[in-house]
Amino acid sequence: MNDTAWDAFARGIGCPLDAPRQRSNEHWEFVAQMSVSSLYLSANQTYRGHCQLIFDPRHVTRLDDLSADEWRALSLDLHLAQSAIMRTVKAEHVNVESLGNIVPHLHWHIIPRYRHDPRWGLPIWMNSFEQMADTRLSTKERDELVESLRRALAPAAI
Ligand SMILES: [Zn+2]
Repeated sequence: MNDTAWDAFARGIGCPLDAPRQRSNEHWEFVAQMSVSSLYLSANQTYRGHCQLIFDPRHVTRLDDLSADEWRALSLDLHLAQSAIMRTVKAEHVNVESLGNIVPHLHWHIIPRYRHDPRWGLPIWMNSFEQMADTRLSTKERDELVESLRRALAPAAI
């Protein structure tokens, strides 16, 4: 990632997280439409239940770009999403992170953490993606997890 691409994304030029987005790609699987965001199950499931919650209405890079009403709506979405994820996967802890170091469009990583996970006690991130554990579910396992998350969210969203 060079600064030029990041700077362009930050200005909303070619931003890969702007809506509309693909429901399924090499990075995620769509789970649910929330009030001002969409929830996706990350393709890398080293941390079972790892999801991304992406702000939908427009391109923004940071929380301080939001109006107070947008922030209230997004924080409610985040609470509902995290609650559904934790009810589903029964993890020991959860990390919630808004980074934007690669794609500066406001989104949250919701990362369930387990005592047996490869980075327990530490952030999951390494200096490069190549250094990070990469665990993929089978299509059947992935679809079952997506369905479980949708059931846990209902009737709040979907
Ligand atoms: Zn964007």
